[in-house]
Amino acid sequence: MNVTPTQIGPYSSTEMLVSWNTGEKYAVPYIELRYYCPCASCVDEHTGERTIQRTSISPDIRPTDVQLVGRYAVQIYWSDQHSTGMYHYDRLHELCRKQGRALAQ
Ligand SMILES: [Zn+2]
Repeated sequence: MNVTPTQIGPYSSTEMLVSWNTGEKYAVPYIELRYYCPCASCVDEHTGERTIQRTSISPDIRPTDVQLVGRYAVQIYWSDQHSTGMYHYDRLHELCRKQGRALAQ
């Protein structure tokens, strides 16, 4: 089954709520979503290593907008003006499972 988000929005001042068509719901820290930005300026596309430092991210980082990209990804606009990351659904789902906390369904 293809995982598709059914809802994405603020959960708290520091966490994003992401609901999935699987019934899963997660609260994911903004700072982790920002840190794991998949764009070419945040990760080395050959080695997969992060080129962004976690300590360089403001603790009050937050999304200013979230746009759907086709039917496969979301683009998150961040308060640090960074917006080049396309979070493919599979990747976003993995981030939810690894960096988020599951909420009661
Ligand atoms: Zn990025």
